[in-house]
Amino acid sequence: TIRPLLSATNIRALAGELDVRPTKTLGQNFVIDGNTIRRIVAAAKVSADEVVLEVGPGLGSLTLGLLDAAARVVAIEIDPKLAERLPKTIEEFRPELAGNIDVILSDAMKVTELPHAPTALVANLPYNVAVPVVLHLFEHFPSLRHGLVMVQDEVADRLVAGPGSRTYGVPSVKSAWYAKMRKAGVIGTNVFWPAPKINSGLVGFERHDAPETTATRKQVFAVIDAAFAQRRKTLRAALSGWAGGAVAAEAALVRAGIDPQARGEKLGIDEFARIAEAHEANLA
Ligand code: SAM
Repeated sequence: TIRPLLSATNIRALAGELDVRPTKTLGQNFVIDGNTIRRIVAAAKVSADEVVLEVGPGLGSLTLGLLDAAARVVAIEIDPKLAERLPKTIEEFRPELAGNIDVILSDAMKVTELPHAPTALVANLPYNVAVPVVLHLFEHFPSLRHGLVMVQDEVADRLVAGPGSRTYGVPSVKSAWYAKMRKAGVIGTNVFWPAPKINSGLVGFERHDAPETTATRKQVFAVIDAAFAQRRKTLRAALSGWAGGAVAAEAALVRAGIDPQARGEKLGIDEFARIAEAHEANLA
C-alpha cells in the first residue's frame, strides 16, 4: 500500500516554518525520499501489534511510515522545535493515526523509562552518538526484541563485524553481548537533506541471551575496553592494567583457556566473558 509520506517539498516547507537549520552536532540529516522510508520500514519487519521506539524522529519522515506498520510509535527527540511540531505533523498528514504516538523531548542517552514497553527499535540515528545510543537502549529496554537502525556505513560495518575482521572492535563485541547484528543494506547520500558526505548503512538486529557467565556485564565490558585500547598488543600486555599486573592478566587468561599471546581482535564475546569470570575467580 502506498500511503502519504512526507515529500522533499513537505520537508523543506516544515523546516522553513520551524526555521530549522539542520545542525551537524545533532546529526540532523532528514530523509526526503519516500522509497527509502518504505525500504527501511520493510527491512525492519515490524508487525502490526508492535510498539516501535524511534530515536530522533526529526520532521517525521520515518515516523509516518512506522505508524502505518505498527500499533504505536514512541519517539525520543532532543530538539524542542522538532519534538513540539511532530504531533501536529501527524495530525496533518495522518489524522487517524494521531492517537498512536508518544513524543518524548529528551536526549535518548538519558531515557530509562518509557510510557509503553517497545518491542522494536527503528531509527535513522544521529550519527555522532549512534553506537552509545544503541548500547544504552539495549541495556535499559530488555523488551526490545529486534530492530533496524540507519547509521554511517562504516559504523554499520563495525557493528556487524565478527572476530578477526578488519572492522571488528568495541562496538562489534559490545553489541554482540545483546544481539545478533546483520548488515541490511547501504543508502546513498542523495536521499537526505542536507546530504551527508558519506553513505549510510542499515543494520538489523535480533536480540539473543547474553553469554552465560557469573561475571557482570560491566566486568565483561571492562575487559573489552582494556583489550581494544591497545589492540595491537598481546592480551597479556593489553590486559595488565585492567588486571593489576601482567602476572594477574596471564593468570586470568590461562584460567579462561585463552592464549596470553593472542590479540583481543580475535576473540568473541563469549571469550571476553570467560576472561572476566576467570579474573573474578582468581581474586576470590
Ligand atoms: N528520523 C528523521 C529522518 O529520518 O528524517 C531524522 C533523522 S536525523 C539523522 C537524527 C535526529 O536525531 C534529528 O532529528 C536530531 O535532532 C535527533 N537527535 C540528535 N541527538 C539526539 C539525542 N541524543 N537524542 C534524541 N534525539 C537526538
